[in-house]
Amino acid sequence: MSQLRATPYTMTINGKGVAGVETMGVVNPASGEVFAQAPVAGAAELDMAVSAAAAAFPKWRATPHKERAAAAINAAKVIAAHADELAEIFTLEQGRPLKFAKEEILGASHWLMSMAKFDIPVDITEDSETRRVEVHHEPLGVVCAIVPWNFPVLLAFWKISHALLTGNVMVLKPSPFTPLAMLKIGEILRDVFPAGVLNIITGGDALGPLMTAHPGFAKISFTGSTATGKRIMASAAQDLKRLTLELGGNDAAIILPDVDVDKVAQELFMGAFYNTAQICIATKRMYVHDDIYDALRDKLHGLAKFLKVGDGMEPDTVFGPVQNKPQYLRVKALMDEARADGLTLLEGRAVPQGSGYFLPLTLVDNPPEDSRVVTEEAFGPILPLLRYSDLDEVIERANNSEYGLAGAVWSSDIDKALAVAKRLDTGTVWINQNLQSTPVTPLGGHKQSGFGVENGMAGLMEFTQPKAIYIPKKATK
Ligand code: NAD
Repeated sequence: MSQLRATPYTMTINGKGVAGVETMGVVNPASGEVFAQAPVAGAAELDMAVSAAAAAFPKWRATPHKERAAAAINAAKVIAAHADELAEIFTLEQGRPLKFAKEEILGASHWLMSMAKFDIPVDITEDSETRRVEVHHEPLGVVCAIVPWNFPVLLAFWKISHALLTGNVMVLKPSPFTPLAMLKIGEILRDVFPAGVLNIITGGDALGPLMTAHPGFAKISFTGSTATGKRIMASAAQDLKRLTLELGGNDAAIILPDVDVDKVAQELFMGAFYNTAQICIATKRMYVHDDIYDALRDKLHGLAKFLKVGDGMEPDTVFGPVQNKPQYLRVKALMDEARADGLTLLEGRAVPQGSGYFLPLTLVDNPPEDSRVVTEEAFGPILPLLRYSDLDEVIERANNSEYGLAGAVWSSDIDKALAVAKRLDTGTVWINQNLQSTPVTPLGGHKQSGFGVENGMAGLMEFTQPKAIYIPKKATK
């Protein structure tokens, strides 16, 4: 057992380890069994965390940006130094295979390093003979961060990097399904940021609503489902808390007939099934041109039958279990319903039997456009493949969704693909790529996929408010 796992999991409040009012069991999705206990914060612990953050705010906002950036870089190094131990905890609670878990830990470190390179500008909107007008970007105060279980560390650091580098302070809550890696990261960063700047608390279903209703927060940065996003927006309306909402998606990939099926199949497959298809920006509907439909379907099915779904601690596993029981039951019900409706399901390799949350990677062969596997975000290993023959019509089908997170176009003709990309109503479109995001590029959803963006200068600015100062050139008073 690693050193980090040897000590109990505690929350980080005001730079110190704090136990909860009780503990909750954390389940390993590969076995279905509880393997660790995480603290449960009540209203008192939440108040403590918000007060600690509020007390730390004046000094942190006044800290020169260079010093804040230095602390972020230091944090990035500490996280990278513990990547192996953290990856082990990550795999046990999240299910993703160890090598991919480590990639996420290192990704979080990379994000901190990269976001630290941005300067927070002062914009000059007028510089005339009589006056200069400066627009400063001021921090908001105490930020409430709530993250999901599918990328529990990276998505937390998108929020932490933005908030802390712009001079805000934070109370962060991981998902009750994946609290452990972030609790340990809170522990190893206790000496890196000043006490109270970054607080990490955990709890069950009651804690999120308590947080969003807490008057001490100036902003809520949330990543999760659209349904929860709507509840949070309603809660935030009470005192007009600022919001960034990164929500669900039902992303379409459009495959033009000129692709080389043998070359693109594996990338297309991973773009849909990486992390057992539990990615907001995964391909969730794949529109394939009639000319290549059969060939691509058979290739994808071949990959599903070949690649291993199993326990993430086993070195040859490519896809782990579904992360938690409710999600497993939801996706299983979707598969069962599709089968009962007479749709053609193409199943992948057999999965481990027992109490783990394993489902075979499954393709659905050209289901009707209005079936639930097409219209809903499955967020699990079931992917509809849909035939098309007319480009205008398929763009309309791709856009016919309440979501608008990301999309992809695949073609050997980049100009043609770009013309299609421009017509998709989504926050991101990839051409001949999948699942890409970078610290310098804003990512956010159109329609009900979100509100605001993360990453890039635009993402940073969402944690600030502009303050215009009008400065006369001469003292006239
Ligand atoms: P979820 O909405 O159930 O939970 C997300 C977080 O919100 C958890 O920490 C949960 O405890 C908390 N929460 C639940 N109810 C709450 C409430 N009423 N008030 C405050 N907090 C509450 O989502 P999930 O199942 O953990 O994650 C899957 C969803 O997240 C998918 O829809 C996926 O597309 C989306 N997602 C979006 C992005 C993005 O960047 N757009 C990234 C990852 C995941």
